Amino acid sequence: KKPVIAIDGYSSTGKSSISKIIAEKLGLIHLDTGALYRGVTWFALQNCLNEEGSIDTHKLFSSFDQIDLEFKNDNGELVLFLNHIDISKAIRTNEVSENVSFVAKQKEVRDFLLQSQRSLAEKGGIIMDGRDIGTVVLPHADYKFFMTASIEERTKRRYEELISLGIDADEQQVKENLLIRDKIDSEREIAPLKQADDAIVIDNTNLSKEGTIESILSHIKK
Ligand code: C5P
Repeated sequence: KKPVIAIDGYSSTGKSSISKIIAEKLGLIHLDTGALYRGVTWFALQNCLNEEGSIDTHKLFSSFDQIDLEFKNDNGELVLFLNHIDISKAIRTNEVSENVSFVAKQKEVRDFLLQSQRSLAEKGGIIMDGRDIGTVVLPHADYKFFMTASIEERTKRRYEELISLGIDADEQQVKENLLIRDKIDSEREIAPLKQADDAIVIDNTNLSKEGTIESILSHIKK
C-alpha cells in the first residue's frame, strides 16, 4: 500500500514545491492544503466583506454551501477550482496572503475543510502539506515531517516565488507577512501550527531543494 505522508511547517519552507516533487517520485497524489484556506479566503474577499471592507465572518460562515472547491488532477498535481474557475494563481496574491491566517483561525472554516482533506487520504498514496496535517488532519500518517528554515531564507524564497508568478513583491513586506502568519498560525486556539510529537524535523536553511528531498526520502522505506 502506498504511504500517507504529512508535511507541516512554517510558511515558505518549501513544503509544497518539495511535496510536489516527492509525489512525482513516489507516484503519490499531492495536496497543498494551504490552497484550500487560500481558496476560502479568496471567496470571502469577493463575497463576504462588511462596510469597512474587511471580512465578515458571519457572512462567510453562512455562505459555505456556495463554496465548491474542487481539485482537478493535472498529471498528479491537483489544480484548485472554485465554482469551476481556476483560482490557482488568484490565491497567491498579497491580498489573500494578508487575510488567510485570519480566515484559517476560524473554527467554522477549519471544520468545513477537514472532512474533504481526510477523505482524500482514505485510499493512501498521498502527500499532504500544511500546518496541522500530522497533528489534526492525519494523526495516523505513515510519515510526518516538520519543516523549518531561517526567516531570511524563507523571505528570499517567497519573494522569488512571487516574482516568478509575475506578482509584484517587496522583500520587507514579504518578510512581515511571513512573520505575522506564523504568529497567528502558531497562536490560534484550533489546530495551531506545531510539530507533531512523532514528526521528523527538517531545518533546510542550508539545504538545496534537492538536499531537502533526499533527506526526506532517506526516511521513507522503499
Ligand atoms: O501553505 P500556505 O502558506 O499557502 O498556507 C496559507 C495559510 O493557510 C497559512 O498561513 C495558514 O494560515 C493556513 N493553513 C492552515 N492549515 C493548513 C494549511 C494552511 O491553517 N493545513
